[in-house]
Amino acid sequence: MYGFMGELLRVDLSQGKISTEEIQEDIAKKYLGGIGLGTKYLYDKVKKGTNPLGPENELIFMTGPLTGTPSPSAGRYDVVAKSPLTGIWGHGNSGGSWGAFLKRSGYDGIIFQGVSPKPVYLKIEGGEAELLDADHLWGKTVPDTTDTINRDLGEKFHIACIGPGGENLVRYAAIMNEKHRAVGRCGLGAVMGSKRLKAIAVSGKGSPRIANEEEFKRVAKKQYELLNESMLKVGFETFGTNMVSDMVNAKGGYPTRNWQTGVFDKIDEVGGQALVDKVLEGKVNCFACPIACGRISKIKEGKWKGKEGEGPEYESAVTLGSMCGVSDMNAITMANFLCNEYGLDTISCGSTIAFAMECYEKGLLTSNDTGGLELRFGDGDMVVELVEKIAAREGIGDLLAEGTKRVSEKLNKDSERFAMHVKGLELPAYDPRAAKICGLGYVTANRGGDHITGYVQGPTFIDTPFLVVDNSTIKDPFVANPEEAKVLIDLENALTVFDMAGVCKFMGMLLKAEEWVALLANATGWEFDVEAFRKAGERVYNLVRSFNVREGITRADDTLPRRLLEEPLPEGPAKGMVIDEETLEKLKDAYYEFRGWDKKTGKPTPEKLRQLGLDDIIKDLWGDK
Ligand code: SF4
Repeated sequence: MYGFMGELLRVDLSQGKISTEEIQEDIAKKYLGGIGLGTKYLYDKVKKGTNPLGPENELIFMTGPLTGTPSPSAGRYDVVAKSPLTGIWGHGNSGGSWGAFLKRSGYDGIIFQGVSPKPVYLKIEGGEAELLDADHLWGKTVPDTTDTINRDLGEKFHIACIGPGGENLVRYAAIMNEKHRAVGRCGLGAVMGSKRLKAIAVSGKGSPRIANEEEFKRVAKKQYELLNESMLKVGFETFGTNMVSDMVNAKGGYPTRNWQTGVFDKIDEVGGQALVDKVLEGKVNCFACPIACGRISKIKEGKWKGKEGEGPEYESAVTLGSMCGVSDMNAITMANFLCNEYGLDTISCGSTIAFAMECYEKGLLTSNDTGGLELRFGDGDMVVELVEKIAAREGIGDLLAEGTKRVSEKLNKDSERFAMHVKGLELPAYDPRAAKICGLGYVTANRGGDHITGYVQGPTFIDTPFLVVDNSTIKDPFVANPEEAKVLIDLENALTVFDMAGVCKFMGMLLKAEEWVALLANATGWEFDVEAFRKAGERVYNLVRSFNVREGITRADDTLPRRLLEEPLPEGPAKGMVIDEETLEKLKDAYYEFRGWDKKTGKPTPEKLRQLGLDDIIKDLWGDK
């Protein structure tokens, strides 16, 4: 099979057994790789009601047919499992070069099942895999774990691992690769910790066979040329993802003090230029990517002077910054470094701290609960201290390690009104009261409150269209237009294919579907056109929704925190705006209709599933009728 290595590793951690499994070509054709193949395996093996932190949950690492090829941005891989944070489909995607080296080690993916009786890590080199003792690694941070394994096995190994966050089952723990890149969302690091799997070290010189190598190289070269000429590359390389800060703030959607407002009066201290001026040391790119959007940074003054790392990305800078009312770039950078070192999702971590700060402000949390700590908005040192406590589950950190939804359920007292999550996943850094379609995107994203699933923030908040779809225009972001639900669906389907193919979603802004079709067709040798490209994404989107429906998700779960539905933004260009419930329900009606989902329940209809070749799961959703 071209484009693939053709085999997966199945690792039974309870038994300490490793076996290989051939990938069936007909399954690969239908689901490609990444979240497509990963979710297919997850759906088939992880039954309804499985405990996300128990032995029956599977943790699936998967690359795509473009991962490890010379295609632009082809270093990406995906991880899926049932999420301990949301209780539904959990997914994270990461860059760097680990995914490419997993493939070079001889395998397209790894499926972990069971729970190891003691800490272990997996070593794969040139097709040979073995489980090694990780007692000496348990308790170590991500950089220490990485350095220790590299010392033991050699520098040629690329390491993905968890830190103390994952070991301590923080519900939003991340899996980190090459120290700084994160499979961030949904707490998949906690799933890895629950299996006592500390790390995966990969090395090898293999590469997937390309069906039409000359043509593949020609198309890839043309893509590099297009990317190198783009203005977006200039913006990304100068400011990283923080280039969007000023735009989002100017549109009134920059979440501040736990979403109490959408304008941060200290934006000049934390925006794209501030990061460049205060902490930027250099830029870094992922495997085979001509756009170096990663930030190498260093704190240059104050008590953390000399501390180095990568980031913060835009979402991290906001959640650990303005959401907590913090304008101290050094504290934001330090909190971000610590999240990476301990292996925590910056978005969920910062958001949960912001929520706790508002609870403290309102007297729902008191110093009796916090061990004497004062959780006040604007206190950057406190954010740093709380990150430490969360990773260690120490004091108030033990409660905050549960995530916003569970903290709110514990405190009750109407705190759910400003608990800023959807389906248990903390919201990222764009206030949908200032761009209504983004609110629909949060409720329809399969992993919960997420921006990058359909990234309709591109055409709304940052005025950037997506070339990968025919039309990504949102006429007036302040107006909720049900017809524009179709734009969101097209984006969700197309961007899903990026997570199936093993490339970066940012490329969806810059290159057309035809370009990706040419790469996929020439890599695999399969007949593939734009229609098949879009249908593949739609199929997997529906499969994931079906996983969630099987877990009990209904239309009623597709909703926003009450703050966004009821509390008007108090200032800025979106002053006075909410997405009221009636508006959201109208958007959902249109969305379900375009999707071919049942409006009453939010389930994909039998007709839709049949049309997508998912006949075998109709019974799970609809019984025998
Ligand atoms: S655009 Fe940025 S995140 Fe995407 S692959 Fe390139 S360097 Fe990595």
